[in-house]
Amino acid sequence: MAAYDVVIIGSGLVGASTANALMRQGAGRVLLLDRGNAGGGDSALTFGMVRRHYTNPVLIRMSMAGTEILRDWDREVGVGTSGYVPTGYLLPVPERLLDACRANVQRQQSLGLDTRLLEPDEIAEVEPLLSIEGVAGAAYEPAGGLCDSRLMVDSWLLDALGRGLELRQHAEVAQIDMDGSRATGVTLANGERIEAGRVVVATGGWSPELLNGIWAVPFNLVRIQVAVLRLPPGQVAPAAVTSDAVSNVVVRSAAGRDIWVVAYQADTPVITTRDECQLPLLAGYEAAIRGPLAERFPSLGTAPLVGGWGGAYDATPDWHPLVGRVPETEGLFICAGWSGHGLKSTPAAGRVMASLVLDETPFIDVADLDPARFARGFENPCAYGPGARA
Ligand SMILES: Cc1cc2nc3c(=O)[nH]c(=O)nc-3n(C[C@H](O)[C@H](O)[C@H](O)COP(=O)(O)OP(=O)(O)OC[C@H]3O[C@@H](n4cnc5c(N)ncnc54)[C@H](O)[C@@H]3O)c2cc1C
Repeated sequence: MAAYDVVIIGSGLVGASTANALMRQGAGRVLLLDRGNAGGGDSALTFGMVRRHYTNPVLIRMSMAGTEILRDWDREVGVGTSGYVPTGYLLPVPERLLDACRANVQRQQSLGLDTRLLEPDEIAEVEPLLSIEGVAGAAYEPAGGLCDSRLMVDSWLLDALGRGLELRQHAEVAQIDMDGSRATGVTLANGERIEAGRVVVATGGWSPELLNGIWAVPFNLVRIQVAVLRLPPGQVAPAAVTSDAVSNVVVRSAAGRDIWVVAYQADTPVITTRDECQLPLLAGYEAAIRGPLAERFPSLGTAPLVGGWGGAYDATPDWHPLVGRVPETEGLFICAGWSGHGLKSTPAAGRVMASLVLDETPFIDVADLDPARFARGFENPCAYGPGARA
């Protein structure tokens, strides 16, 4: 008999959520491994944005269900908090994207989401600091906003540990052990072998190395950086979290007088392995954010830079995650390649993964996220083209 019923590799948002759901569903003996501290990968670097504005039903449903769990955290997890704050979410678009945005909003409404398309002159009611120059309209979600990935990982783990989860940090998996096409466990970097009936790969941007020789994971690593600016005393901070599809700047308020700013860049240096991605901001990033920030938020454009960090999106060809069985294998599952959408979707994704691992029907149909879809010639369409907005 296998020593563990399930071994999960990686304790970020995906691994912690999956471990929690497995313990709650009575999966038996479950071991969660991480080569570092729990939640110390890209889940420690997130911008914290909650939105449901996606093109396809599967991601809309996943992020809607995830946000409901964030909102009802006390009842859903029972330990800690998700730090969820519904500031509202705004997506201003230029004329060329207006029809695509309207169709997205209608699709989301048909799935039950409270969202609407604002005319430019309605935007000031939601975000008075926003310049409407070049803006043809904006998708708005009143319950979009912010949450805190560290609080989420901690509370999932505390709850799961109380239900018998075994967690080993600083335990690097060197390889997944296979008997033909069947996963039989893992071997740690110190040579220790651990048997398992099922193995779940939740190693985010590190997944290609781990699955080397088993399956070529279809994603690229795309650098993403967050700049921290400090507003002078008396300066009004943004109310809503805004992702501007005109200038490609993304802005939120943070603790104190800080704002966090991301500029989506087309020409970031290529990263080939996740370990190559340095965490400090790259030189030149401040220059990249100043123009777009001043364009969309003129009153914030000159606030001084006081810090920031970088991470990597594990971006698949269609910017949708890989959720399901690793192709051509048995007993081996993957939930990775979240392409920048993991934060608010992982509360639901963990439950989906637990069902898949336990051979049950998941509460959201994730067939369109099948890891084998690219080999079959299927890609999920993206209303704004392949990219972080998906
Ligand atoms: C800068 C930035 C901002 C973001 N902002 C947002 C946002 O606003 N909204 C949103 O929805 N999403 C956002 N994301 C995306 C989101 O953070 C990710 O989708 C999510 O954190 C992925 O979680 P994960 O568990 O898959 O990966 P990770 O958190 O990276 O976890 C993987 C874990 O695997 C472990 N590991 C790796 N290799 C091994 C091994 N061999 N053995 C054992 N353990 C191993 C690592 O130590 C790590 O802890 C952002 C991402 C970044 C980088």
